[in-house]
Amino acid sequence: MSTVGVLALQGDVREHLAAATRVGATAIGVRRLAELESVDALIIPGGESTTIDKLLRAFDLFEPLKERIHAGMPVMGSCAGMIMLATDLVGGIEGQQSLAAIPMTVRRNAFGRQVDSAETELVWEPDGSAMHATFIRAPWVEACSPEVEILATAAGPDGTRHPVAVRHGSAIATSFHPEIAAPGAVHDDRVHRLLLDLI
Ligand code: GLN
Repeated sequence: MSTVGVLALQGDVREHLAAATRVGATAIGVRRLAELESVDALIIPGGESTTIDKLLRAFDLFEPLKERIHAGMPVMGSCAGMIMLATDLVGGIEGQQSLAAIPMTVRRNAFGRQVDSAETELVWEPDGSAMHATFIRAPWVEACSPEVEILATAAGPDGTRHPVAVRHGSAIATSFHPEIAAPGAVHDDRVHRLLLDLI
């Protein structure tokens, strides 16, 4: 059985542990180097990217994590996790770093600060099916290299569409929260299953 780690420094760790368990992985929280070294794949949860960045460095995990990702470990980031996986940021704070796993520019709080949270129906491009997605102070992909596969797009406040789910090699990033189900709905675990398939 594959072990999927969830970076457990800050953010919605529990929901991702539950989703990874539902798709059949052994799920563990990752806070230490030994835990990072023991996982087959890692999820970077939503939360606050500036805090996750600072804590990664405080826990001496930033460089080891970057090395594992660049050595090909499958990784998935949602929301703040998407920001952490970008090469370039718009709207980052002074000194904010990211792990540069996906050649893309990500805009923080892209849907506007007033859009605290929203639910939208997306088209999941790999099979053209519908996907219900929850956005919370979400980023979007402002620009990306042509090698980046776009898995879903969503319209911004002015109607222009932007990628909100992408894949590059073994790295997946979503603006939305695939670990959160709409009230009363069953969990849609397609993004977590895709991560497991990359192991
Ligand atoms: N706006 C947050 C950030 O910049 C991300 C929000 C989220 O992860 N739900 O990190």
